[in-house]
Amino acid sequence: MSTQPRILIAEDESGIADTLQYVLRTDGFVPVWCATAEQAIAQFAAEPPALAILDVGLPDMNGFELFKRLQALPGGALVPMIFLTARSDEIDRVVGLELGADDYIAKPFSPRELVARVRTILRRSARGGHPAGAAGPAGAAATAAPALPAAAPAAAPAGPFALDSERMQIRYYGRLLELSRYEYGLLRLLVQRPGRVYTRDDLLRLVWDEASDSFDRTVDAHVKTLRAKLKAIAPEVDAIRTLRGTGYALNEDLPLDGA
Ligand code: CA
Repeated sequence: MSTQPRILIAEDESGIADTLQYVLRTDGFVPVWCATAEQAIAQFAAEPPALAILDVGLPDMNGFELFKRLQALPGGALVPMIFLTARSDEIDRVVGLELGADDYIAKPFSPRELVARVRTILRRSARGGHPAGAAGPAGAAATAAPALPAAAPAAAPAGPFALDSERMQIRYYGRLLELSRYEYGLLRLLVQRPGRVYTRDDLLRLVWDEASDSFDRTVDAHVKTLRAKLKAIAPEVDAIRTLRGTGYALNEDLPLDGA
């Protein structure tokens, strides 16, 4: 009888599935491989996993559709899901659709990075997104029970930020930010995944149309102006963290009334 977290893998390429299973097993997870979306739905319905990894390009259904079908199953909305994608236009869709998936991994991926992401997401889920001190029964997080994540992880507003995608506007502590197109794109991405680290390359790929015209410094310059605008509203708050040599992330522990 295992209490190790089960990870559902929907991936039709056996080579990739083998690698995934190997690294997950090595790290103490129990991988369950499904080569088709149909199998994945059956497995998921029989017993929801701790987390699901979905290939976007499956033979019988695309990963986005599968995601929606799984979410609709009992308990499905509580299971964190990661997309595996081979193409940058798919990544754009993952981000743009705001499906509520927890993350994506671009192929080819580093197995080490993948396991680290799985761990981070499960840890975040186990905490249930409760603010410190307001957590539920203390035992809940310690059981590593994967079935207690925050509702709708990706769409959850990040503390003081309020995102209005239709109007392409972001409020910060209730105040409307006047953002350029790229500042808006950057902040929107960060706000949707508090704590998630984006490298400069990630940001160039996801926010700028033509990465070839841009440089790492472009990202830095926009983050700088963005920070200045945030500071103008809440001088004491550092909303965007710099990870030296790596990239940027939204601070996960922002005060709810900073201004
Ligand atoms: Ca595939």
